[in-house]
Amino acid sequence: MSLRPSVVGLLGGGQLGRMLCEAGAASNAQIAILDADSCSAKQINSNPHHISGSFKDAAKIKQLAAACDVLTVEIEHIETEVLEEIATRGVPVHGADGTNTASTMKRVAVHPSWRTLRLVQDKFEQKEYLRGQGIPIAEQMAIESGGDEGMLASMERASQKFGYPWMLKARKDSYDGRGNFKISSQDDLRRAAQEFGSLACYAEKWVPFELELAVMVIRAEDDAGHLRRVMPYPVVETVHEDSICSKVYMPPRKVSTEVCRKAQAVAIAVAEQLWGRGVFAIEMFLTKDGDIIYNECAPRPHNSGHLTIEAVPYMSQFKAQLTAILDEPLPEVLEPHVESSIMINILGGAHPDSHLPLVEKAKSMYAAKTAVYVHLYGKESKPSRKIGHITVTSFGSIAELERFAEPLLELSSRIRQ
Ligand code: ATP
Ligand code: MG
Ligand code: MG
Repeated sequence: MSLRPSVVGLLGGGQLGRMLCEAGAASNAQIAILDADSCSAKQINSNPHHISGSFKDAAKIKQLAAACDVLTVEIEHIETEVLEEIATRGVPVHGADGTNTASTMKRVAVHPSWRTLRLVQDKFEQKEYLRGQGIPIAEQMAIESGGDEGMLASMERASQKFGYPWMLKARKDSYDGRGNFKISSQDDLRRAAQEFGSLACYAEKWVPFELELAVMVIRAEDDAGHLRRVMPYPVVETVHEDSICSKVYMPPRKVSTEVCRKAQAVAIAVAEQLWGRGVFAIEMFLTKDGDIIYNECAPRPHNSGHLTIEAVPYMSQFKAQLTAILDEPLPEVLEPHVESSIMINILGGAHPDSHLPLVEKAKSMYAAKTAVYVHLYGKESKPSRKIGHITVTSFGSIAELERFAEPLLELSSRIRQ
C-alpha cells in the first residue's frame, strides 16, 4: 500500500459523480473530475486535480488522465477512441521542466474498459453481441436511416415482422427513454421517420412485460484483464413512468426467489461477457410466464442501485465502484442490512418549487423499524430532471414499507401532474 493517495479521474460530475465523491470521502482517494465548475459533484469535493470543461473534449480527457492512476466514467456516452489511446498507448506526462518527451508516456487504466463502453454505446450491437453469447433478448432488426422512403419501407418490414406495437429505438445516446418511439399503428410511421430520420435506428419487438427488474453487479478482474469474479447485489424492481425511472423496490414486489435467482444469473452472464472493473447495471423485463428478457446494460453506478447506500452500507454501489476500480478487496457477499427498501426519485416539476412538499414530508417522517433518507443533488429544478432521491428502509416487509411510504409515493406522482 502506498502512502500517496490514489487519484481517480472521473469523466462527468453529475449526481452519480457526487455520490461517488461521498463514498470516496471516507478514504484518502482523490476524485478528479472533468466537468463544468458548477457541476453537482464538484460542489462537494475540492482537490487540486479537477479540470474545467466538457467530458467529451479529447484533449481535456488526456490532460485529466495524465494526473490520474485510473480513469472512470459516470456516463457511457463518451468517445472511446481517446480512452483506448490512453489505456493502450498512454498520455504524455510533463517533465519537471514542463517538456513532453516520448520517454514520459504513461498508460492509464480505464474502467470500465473502453471496449465495454464502445460496445454498449450502440444498443443494437450490444444486444446482437449478447444474443450471440446466449443472453435472451427481444427480437430486433436494423432500420435504414434518412427519414425517406427507404426508411419507411424498412419500418414497414418491421411492422410485418413484429406486428403492432413495436419500439423504434435510436442506437446511440439514449437515456430516460429519449431515444424511444413506440409504434402503435401504421399512422405512426411517417411521424417517427421524421423525428428519428437523422439518427441510426433499429426496431425492437414489443415486450408485454409483467414488470421490470434490475441487478447491479460488481465486476472484478486482474491487471492482465482476466475476470476474477462477478458479484450480484439483490434484485430490485424498477418502475418507469414516461420511460423515466421513478421508483425502485427491493425486494421486488410479488416476485419469487427463483425468478430473482434467474435474474441474477442473467446479470452475471452479461457482465462475464464484458470487460473492465467496476459496477454494472443490468436492466431486464420479466414476462407473465416468468421469463427474463435482457433490456440493456449501463457499465457504471445506476439509479437502480441508489438504495444500496443505505441498504448495503458496507459496500454501496459507489463504494464498490471505487473498491473495484482501485482493485481493493471486495466482500464475500452483498447482503442488505435491512429487510426492504424503496427508492423514490425526486423529479423536477412544472415550477422550481414543485418538489418541495415531497422533500418536506420525507424530512418529517419517523417511525419504528423504518428510516427515511433524503438526497438532494444541488441541481437546478427543471421539468422531469432528476434532482434528488429519497430512500426508505425497513426491518419489515416490502408490503409494509410500501404502506409506510404511501404519502411519499403519492406526493411524488403529484409533481408529475
Ligand atoms: P435509460 O435511462 O434506462 O438508459 P433508455 O433511454 O436507454 O433508458 P430503454 O431502457 O431502452 O431506454 O427503455 C426505457 C423504458 O422503455 C424501459 O425501461 C421500458 O419501460 C420501456 N421499453 C423499452 N423497450 C421496450 C420494449 N421492447 N417493449 C416494451 N417496453 C419497452
Ligand atoms: Mg439506456
Ligand atoms: Mg434503460
